[in-house]
Amino acid sequence: MENKFAELRKRYEEVSALGSARAVLAWDQRVTMPPGGAPARARSMSALARTVHSKATAPEIGRLIGETWDWAQAKGPDSFEAAYLRVLKRDYDHATKLPSEFVGEMSAAASAAMAAWESAKKNSDFPSFAPHLEKMVDINRRQAEYLAPGEPHYDTLLDLYEPGMRRAELEPLLTELSEGMKPVLRAIAERRAAVSNEILKGDFEEGAQLALADEIVKALGFDFSKGRQDRSVHPFTTGFSLSDVRITTWTMRGWLPASIYASMHECGHALYGMGAPAEFELTPLAGGAGLGVHESQSRFWENFVGRSRPFCEWLLPGLRRHFPGKFDRVSPEQFYLAVNKSEPSFIRVEADEATYDMHIALRFRLETALLDGALKVKDLPGAWNAGMNELFGITPKNDAEGVLQDVHWSQGTIGYFPTYSLGNLMAAQLDEAMRADIKDMDGLIARGEFAPPLAWLRERVHRHGARYFPADLLRKAIGKERETAPFLRYIKTKYSAIYKF
Ligand code: MG
Repeated sequence: MENKFAELRKRYEEVSALGSARAVLAWDQRVTMPPGGAPARARSMSALARTVHSKATAPEIGRLIGETWDWAQAKGPDSFEAAYLRVLKRDYDHATKLPSEFVGEMSAAASAAMAAWESAKKNSDFPSFAPHLEKMVDINRRQAEYLAPGEPHYDTLLDLYEPGMRRAELEPLLTELSEGMKPVLRAIAERRAAVSNEILKGDFEEGAQLALADEIVKALGFDFSKGRQDRSVHPFTTGFSLSDVRITTWTMRGWLPASIYASMHECGHALYGMGAPAEFELTPLAGGAGLGVHESQSRFWENFVGRSRPFCEWLLPGLRRHFPGKFDRVSPEQFYLAVNKSEPSFIRVEADEATYDMHIALRFRLETALLDGALKVKDLPGAWNAGMNELFGITPKNDAEGVLQDVHWSQGTIGYFPTYSLGNLMAAQLDEAMRADIKDMDGLIARGEFAPPLAWLRERVHRHGARYFPADLLRKAIGKERETAPFLRYIKTKYSAIYKF
């Protein structure tokens, strides 16, 4: 059996190495490639994708998984071998259950939908996008049916992003979360003028923003001998191995927080990516436990650390150094208030911590209704605007700042948005547990000593890689089930102090 498992590993290593090569091409495409490189790059990437797919779906892999399964289980469900096979089987089943004509149809439909979405968003023209969205909803239903015939479709799609989770567990969490947030948002709304963020607007030289972003992630523990940070149109993280993880940030000349917090967010993803044990290299266990857990890591550094009072205290000297004259008379408290100003906004990606999850609640409600057939695509803009009004008390003036703002549905990702809220909830649970263990967290953060919180996350979360389902990982890490109370406590405590209610 050892020999068969070794053969399986050898096959997977090749798939993984080729996948990394493709990821390098994708990184280069978004970071350094000149526009003229696009057609040749598309050819190379699709050739590699086909090679990876055929090697990853080779019948021998399925056979070897089957032959080694019981042997691995006998070593214990948490053993390296059993976890290895569980994650690999999941990927293998997914890749082999979808007929190749369907995969082709799905990818062509998604490309067409994305192009239609881009121009619809530009012209705020939902009707031109509607037929494409109808097609993507239908494709999602069919995909779910191929993957798990007869199972509720939303459960199957959600499981692609949040392994092991069901809608019946998710829905009460999201409802509790938005109900819990409503009184907080009402209280903030009555005191909106109390907080100003004017000091974050102005003219901030972009080279200085990037230099500061490098200093910040280095302080957090991002190892530049095993990664780099560049600039791209949208921030992202990718990795080619445990010791080559790339992050990008963006800069907005007139709005300083964009680069700082994008950088901290992506750094959180990268620290997780760099934090798996060396024995997980070239195995399916290197990738992280799911999108919600990944997002808990990015949000932890971005918000629970980055938007904390002690962090602002630590950051201020760096701001003064990089932007001479601009922060001389700004106090840490003023900076803290400015980066935590909360206001209802139309756009999810610009939302603050207090309002963010309401955007997710709206998308969850609408995407489940679309998938169930309870909501027709043509009625989506109306349902969107009604939801915005109910949750935020504001109505988008057009579909571009309403229902057309996100790219996700056009790409065919339904069941993905909730992982953002799951990440916030988990980050709050981890933060509470960490603060119980590390007594002087605020003092450490104020002094720029980020190694103890990172070591805590390495020990509780990172070293397990994809070994456990997210819910099991949380239980392992802190002995708790998923819950909303820590996040609601955190938000209430923080914002009632900021807005004095
Ligand atoms: Mg993220």
